[in-house]
Amino acid sequence: MSDNSNHESSNFIRNIIKDDVKNKKNKSLVHTRFPPEPNGYLHIGHAKSICLNFGIADDFKGGLCNLRFDDTNPAKEDPEYTDSIQQDVKWLGFDWSDRLFYASDYFEQLFEFAKQMITNGKAYVDHLNADEIRDHRGTLTEPGKDSPYRDRSIEENLSLFERMRAGDFEEGECILRAKIDMSSPNINMRDPAIYRIKKAAHHRTGNNWCIYPMYDYTHCISDALEGITHSLCTLEFEDHRPLYDWFLDQLPVTCHPQQIEFARLNLNYTITSKRKLNELVVDGSVSGWDDPRMPTIVGMRRRGYTPESIRDFCSRIGITKNDTTIDVGVLENCVREDLGGRAPRVMGVLNPLKIVIDNYPEDKSEQLDIPNHPNDPTMGERKVPFSKIIYIEKDDFMEEPSKKFFRLAPGKEVRLRYAYYIICNKVVKDDSDNILELHCSYDPDSKGGDSPDGRKVKGTLHWVSAEHAFKTEVRLYDRLFDDPKPDSNKHENGWKDFLNSDSIKVVKNAFLEPSLKSANKEDFFQFERIGYFCVDSKDSDVGKPIFNRTVSLRDSWAKKQK
Ligand code: ATP
Ligand code: MG
Repeated sequence: MSDNSNHESSNFIRNIIKDDVKNKKNKSLVHTRFPPEPNGYLHIGHAKSICLNFGIADDFKGGLCNLRFDDTNPAKEDPEYTDSIQQDVKWLGFDWSDRLFYASDYFEQLFEFAKQMITNGKAYVDHLNADEIRDHRGTLTEPGKDSPYRDRSIEENLSLFERMRAGDFEEGECILRAKIDMSSPNINMRDPAIYRIKKAAHHRTGNNWCIYPMYDYTHCISDALEGITHSLCTLEFEDHRPLYDWFLDQLPVTCHPQQIEFARLNLNYTITSKRKLNELVVDGSVSGWDDPRMPTIVGMRRRGYTPESIRDFCSRIGITKNDTTIDVGVLENCVREDLGGRAPRVMGVLNPLKIVIDNYPEDKSEQLDIPNHPNDPTMGERKVPFSKIIYIEKDDFMEEPSKKFFRLAPGKEVRLRYAYYIICNKVVKDDSDNILELHCSYDPDSKGGDSPDGRKVKGTLHWVSAEHAFKTEVRLYDRLFDDPKPDSNKHENGWKDFLNSDSIKVVKNAFLEPSLKSANKEDFFQFERIGYFCVDSKDSDVGKPIFNRTVSLRDSWAKKQK
């Protein structure tokens, strides 16, 4: 056993499993599962569960992790989602091998088990309607009341249940319930529903069924049938654990997995609810599940997040029993760090200011050798053209510079990154006082951006040669919500009021260095001094990549929050 995890630091669940393995529980086997409901795209919260379940399987010798679709609610499920979920799990770097399962594969078995429970006096068909069932359920402080149908005979129950399956009843007319205890202090144990009637086609079983098993019943049995040893789920299922165990105790299954709960991931400035994310897609607040502002795996991928950065994030936040909220800045830092080490550096000007270098020959241009990464020579060099007319960022010039402004200003000298020193001689304006261009001169002895005689300059600017620049669209993304808790209770109805109106800015004509013209979909770069960018995978064409800003170089929100 490789109990020293390479993937993640230790946590309480790993410790439990380590002990189980040591004590030869489950013959020292470790078998987990990731059980999404295919009713939406996976989001960053699911990544936490994926990294935990698949990570544990990877860390223990012979460990296995199943991918299982919990597809018991035909109305909301769709093959679009089963496809995307598989792609996302793979992209995150995990592999279920040949262990892809569907709860719907067990429908027949689940039905047989339900009949067995009836036969053993542990389940009954209830004809109370939904309102009556609610009235009978009681409250946290008061016990429930038995249904008048609770003591139907086994024969009657069996026949009614078969008729439910045959479609003899309408939706809501009756349900199959477990017969446990209507006065249990745990409401989940007050005769929970096992089967409900739903006359809807299922994405895999078509119209074979008009009754569908409930989650609590299906989940534990699916786990047991697959030989799961540790069933890891989020804290809201803690109160369901007695029911999980009760069902398995009633049934002739040889495997009884141990359910262990952990805290779900909450991120500030972020919504992690499939229902609400779906609402944003449907009402057009975003362009789709893969909008680069979405916290979905497909959205983050399109935004430029790497699988490595997401896995690193999941490992940093750890696994605990306490519900906490993580600062989304932690996630952003993970991608900054990952890309910082390996994204090629390039130059691009988003908001151009024209510079004419008066003493640079009219018809000359040269190819400068520029390293792709300042700290990693193995990443090589590329050629970047330089010529008489260049663009710099508008922000990098001030006609009347404030004291701490060390970039370009009249009479001031700066370094053009990896190129030359230039000094600003003249500002040319139009009639309404707008700056049209600057006239500068360069020092030919400063080639490469090195000081020719020991004289120092404080500012270093990025630039592109005007004649050679590759013009393309650049999209500047920011957080989708501008409130740290958009879906807290106090905002229950208004969570959409907290959508950040500045979450996307489109620069139609950015001027980028020409090497970027041949960038491929999903390639990532650091635009020097601006941020990390990747090639949009959807709207880019060959020879015309469009760039998405993944994250700025520094966290501008930390300041704002203070
Ligand atoms: P949502 O609230 O987004 O609809 P869900 O829990 O209904 O999420 P499922 O498809 O049932 O979505 O989730 C699959 C697995 O992912 C479950 O084991 C669930 O506990 C886990 N999971 C979902 N959201 C989170 C989260 N925010 N943090 C950690 N695990 C999560
Ligand atoms: Mg769910």
